[in-house]
Amino acid sequence: MSSGDTPISTRLSDMAAVREAFPILQQQMHGQPLIFLDSAASSQRPHHVIHALADYMSRYHANVHRGVYWLSEEATYAYEQAREKVAHFIGARRPEEIIFTRNTTEAINLVAYAWGDAHVQAGDRILLTLMEHHSNIVAWQLLAERRGAVLDYVTLDADGRLDLDSLDQLLTERTRIVAFTHQSNVLGTINPVATIAARAHAVGALVVVDGAQSVPHMPVNVAELGADFLAFSGHKMCGPTGVGVLWGRYDILSTMHPFLGGGSMISYVDEQRSTYADVPQRFEAGTPAIGEAIALGAAVDFLNGIGMDAIYHHEQELVQHALQQLATVPNLTLYGPRAAEQRGAALAFTLGNIHPHDIAAVLDQQGIAVRAGHHCTQPLHRLLDVPATVRASMYLYNTADELDRLVAGLAHVQRVLG
Ligand code: PMP
Repeated sequence: MSSGDTPISTRLSDMAAVREAFPILQQQMHGQPLIFLDSAASSQRPHHVIHALADYMSRYHANVHRGVYWLSEEATYAYEQAREKVAHFIGARRPEEIIFTRNTTEAINLVAYAWGDAHVQAGDRILLTLMEHHSNIVAWQLLAERRGAVLDYVTLDADGRLDLDSLDQLLTERTRIVAFTHQSNVLGTINPVATIAARAHAVGALVVVDGAQSVPHMPVNVAELGADFLAFSGHKMCGPTGVGVLWGRYDILSTMHPFLGGGSMISYVDEQRSTYADVPQRFEAGTPAIGEAIALGAAVDFLNGIGMDAIYHHEQELVQHALQQLATVPNLTLYGPRAAEQRGAALAFTLGNIHPHDIAAVLDQQGIAVRAGHHCTQPLHRLLDVPATVRASMYLYNTADELDRLVAGLAHVQRVLG
């Protein structure tokens, strides 16, 4: 381990050490200590991950699965090690069930093309929910357009939880795919994946789970989820951008046609036809994001060093604190479940008639980074009947103190703009 590295078994009780592991958090923003509350969009990275990427680039960069020389073998070894780390992290039965993609979006599109085009017929139905991110909507709309299928949407109750009665009504033997998020990026709602997966499987549907907001924040074990596919992004779990993951059940993946064609994914190429490599190479056409995947493996080491249970409990405490404190802010409307245990650490709200972008801009002047907009969930915002919300989202490095500064910042917003 070089001097740039942080020990990877940092305890969350030693928050100073945890925060020191993240160089970006050490800076001031507009003369104030930076309070980063936009981890649902993209998290920050610890030294350990930055070092892993720099080490690969400076010491053993070469293409993978190709060369017989030392550098290429070293890069291949590290890349495949990263696959094993990710597999272990989510309880996959074998590393071949892990496909490195660019991000969650590409992982979902991979399933839509490679499974959907082969199995969805005209008149079939694809069941989504009204809390989906656009990446778990548009990929299915494109599939529906290609195949003549129809999209249905599970509705939400007043607290922003899935209405499971509406799920039961919409699930029919024509439903080929049920795709939904594990945790909402706006409402914070944590969905009962195993329950939904069991009901979907009962009608023979494929279950695709968007884990972009759950895998970084809580222990996730694919054996317990009961889904067929799980998609998530490296950049939301302390890893780099440019790498994401599709986990899929091996028996399904191994029967699927490729998504993208090119080098690395073939077995034999003839002038007219080709045969394809086994899983996972079949789904990793071209040169992958090698260093990024290796650094994602380092992020997994980092998260394991802290412990996903510890991260989940830390965020639960933050959510409880935030719910209490935000309830004291006049004119603040918070969306999503009121009970902390039903939600994760993304808190979307509006403040009277003040435009969310203005709120975010005034908070920024106080060093507080939050996101404003529809957060890639326009159908959800139409249901909430607001064009935009402010979203404060937390991660392992945030503190109750920072949330108090957010609340003080909102009081300032109301003085300036209210
Ligand atoms: N699903 C959810 C729930 C998300 O929050 C996001 C990112 N905001 C995505 C999908 C898409 O992730 P990416 O942009 O990394 O593909």
